[in-house]
Amino acid sequence: MVAKLIEIDEAKHLVLERASPLPAEQVSLRDALGRVLAADAAAFDPVPGFDNSAMDGFAVRAADTAAASAEAPVGLSVVGESRAGRPAQRGVGPREAILISTGAMVPEGADAVVRVEDTRSRDGRVDVAVAVGAGRNVRRAGEDIQPDEAVLTRGTPLGPPELGVLASIGKAGVECVRRPRAFVLATGDELYEPDEPLGPGGVRNSNAYTVPALVERAGAEVVGTETVPDKPRPTRAAIERALSADVVVICGGVSVGEHDHVRSALAELGAEEVFWGVALRPGKPTWFGTHPGGALVFGLPGNPVSAMVTFLLLARPAIEAQLGLSPNRQRATAILDDEYAKRPGRAHAVRCRLELRDDGWHARTTGEQGSHVLTSMLGADALAMIPTESGTVSAGTKVEIELLRWGE
Ligand code: AMP
Ligand code: MG
Repeated sequence: MVAKLIEIDEAKHLVLERASPLPAEQVSLRDALGRVLAADAAAFDPVPGFDNSAMDGFAVRAADTAAASAEAPVGLSVVGESRAGRPAQRGVGPREAILISTGAMVPEGADAVVRVEDTRSRDGRVDVAVAVGAGRNVRRAGEDIQPDEAVLTRGTPLGPPELGVLASIGKAGVECVRRPRAFVLATGDELYEPDEPLGPGGVRNSNAYTVPALVERAGAEVVGTETVPDKPRPTRAAIERALSADVVVICGGVSVGEHDHVRSALAELGAEEVFWGVALRPGKPTWFGTHPGGALVFGLPGNPVSAMVTFLLLARPAIEAQLGLSPNRQRATAILDDEYAKRPGRAHAVRCRLELRDDGWHARTTGEQGSHVLTSMLGADALAMIPTESGTVSAGTKVEIELLRWGE
């Protein structure tokens, strides 16, 4: 059987040692959702770019309102208007006011804004019914972002708020890490596509759907998928085609059966084995190696759950590292609500649903955990990682979890 099994943490460490960030490329802001910043982003100008009003009202000199009250309003003459994008033509002098809209530039001479609700207008004049202090209802230039300050640092994944901040500092394009290119191979004479009539002993090729989807959600680009029969030459030829990618993910055919040709094909093609066999359930016969051309090669077990679990625990961190993301970003802890029966010997990755309660996150298993039970992945939020040496885990135990977060 598989040689000496290594621990999953050691396996991940060996993978990450070989996964380094890919080069940067310029990406237009419109295409940058989900990408990762390759360089710090700083503003050239302050945001907001000018002192502006937080309210609809009147820009005034605060000192002029000092004596104002509801009983004794102070009358000021209205000498102009400042609208969004249309600043006033003149400044505010003593006992003057300028009508101002939210976000519009505070005119020269004014140092406060009186809300429209606290005023009454009458032919060219305004009665101010409250005293306002200097700075009241004024948003200062640079209050949000100062020039030359790194607002976003390299390694930040770009979501909706990041895109907004980049737009607000005038970036039409940004330096992003190139997305890793991944090639996915499914192996097996038994595999049938969803629209093919099943032959005897036929199995639906579900890995050809789960794994490319996982690749995409990890942030890589699927550059090819192929299904390969259990024959040495086609296996070798397909792997050779796949090796131009940054990441090669091969599902099945990596065990010790007479019809498993993946490892021998990889050896013939010059790939170097880093490990084969992980003390993990599901996922024991996982193979990992590198090719001198630069590809990271994952030989995942063919069982649908094993393929997903080993992808999530080993290949996803590799893709994240190639993207310059932190490799432990999916780690957290939760309280296991069910007893989990287990013998020491291998770590178990248990599919769980998460629920937030008063005392933190709770995990409940998704039911039958066989490596062929793909429905155990439905609704799963996390993998509870039960350590190798652990026996049965009683309900209420705190466990480490790997968040799946493949949803969005
Ligand atoms: P293997 O790792 O090739 O020994 O396959 C282990 C089990 O996973 C077998 O029952 C295969 O039929 C099944 N299997 C392998 N590849 C796939 C696939 N692409 N889709 C669904 N099941 C698969
Ligand atoms: Mg097979």
